[in-house]
Amino acid sequence: MISKVDHAPLRDTFGRTVTYLRLSVTDRCDLRCTYCMAEKMEFLPKNELLTLEELQCLAEAFISRGVRKIRITGGEPLVRKDILSLFEQLGRHIGRGLDELTLTTNGTQLDRHADALARAGVKRVNISLDTLDRSRFLEITRRDELGRVLSGIEAAVDATLKVKINTVGLKHQNADEIPGIIGWAHSKGHDVSLIEVMPLGETGEDRFDQYLPLDTVRHQLEQRWTLEPEAGHDPLAGPSRYFRVAETGGRLGFITPLTNNFCAQCNRVRVTCTGRIYQCLGQNNYLDLRSAIRESPDPMQALNTALDVALRAKPERHDFAIRAPQEAPALSRHMSVTGG
Ligand code: SAM
Ligand code: SF4
Repeated sequence: MISKVDHAPLRDTFGRTVTYLRLSVTDRCDLRCTYCMAEKMEFLPKNELLTLEELQCLAEAFISRGVRKIRITGGEPLVRKDILSLFEQLGRHIGRGLDELTLTTNGTQLDRHADALARAGVKRVNISLDTLDRSRFLEITRRDELGRVLSGIEAAVDATLKVKINTVGLKHQNADEIPGIIGWAHSKGHDVSLIEVMPLGETGEDRFDQYLPLDTVRHQLEQRWTLEPEAGHDPLAGPSRYFRVAETGGRLGFITPLTNNFCAQCNRVRVTCTGRIYQCLGQNNYLDLRSAIRESPDPMQALNTALDVALRAKPERHDFAIRAPQEAPALSRHMSVTGG
């Protein structure tokens, strides 16, 4: 059956147009970062995950509705079997509706995948790295893999991918190391984004104890360096404020999702590896797109209708809060499920 695909932009009831999709392709990971997962995570049964073909169909529905940027995330996207084929399929849309296909990764598998990602059309990758110290890395991620991440970063550079380092600020585990990480990254030409811990999912850790407010970090960095605010806010950059560090020449972003600063310009939605569309990272509203794909004789048509319903329910702003340790997390799902 030929679907009558609607190409109308994805507009919500607050006048915002969605042009950016974060697509999670797995909830699994080869690391166990303490702020993201519990050591003994129960992962989803494989049949609940969208197949690679379903992920492609879904991404193409978004592209046909005006999404210009797709970020593949997880879990760790590069641990999903045959994930490169999805990059290859979606890469064909670059310049034909899609401006950019990117990836957020922990870097452990990049040494074997960086070249193929570049060939598929990926130009930039975000690599998460919270410390340059091997024993701290083991403490934070519960795995002794710093060496592989560093060689993954080198492989990305060799493949001409532009690298941005994502660092979660952790009060006891890396607060003192943040200037060192920034200096190291900038000396290699990598931008850095610092991220505030978000209360997503039960991890067995006390978030009050992990939480490091980034405005404090910024004030400390300003004692050492000149942070020149970048003119204007690029809505495609998301909830980040960017500065140029005069002394290093590098870019530094602060991602502070606990403030509502950028909700008014929010242009993104997230889809989980099971096909749930979350209209906002910080809210529990979602709509199941998997049934539209699996149960309809015309998946594209069904997806289009579902996307309109989902957009009508995109909330005006998020509702994050760091709860007291004895309380449940603000949102019960993990970042690895929703996709960071
Ligand atoms: N595994 C990949 C990685 O680590 O880059 C992609 C998925 S991970 C969920 C995406 C980003 O979310 C990472 O930069 C990670 O540090 C961040 N993240 C995970 N849990 C978080 C939390 N509770 N609060 C803030 N950032 C978190
Ligand atoms: Fe894995 Fe990324 Fe979560 Fe760390 S932050 S456990 S690397 S999904």
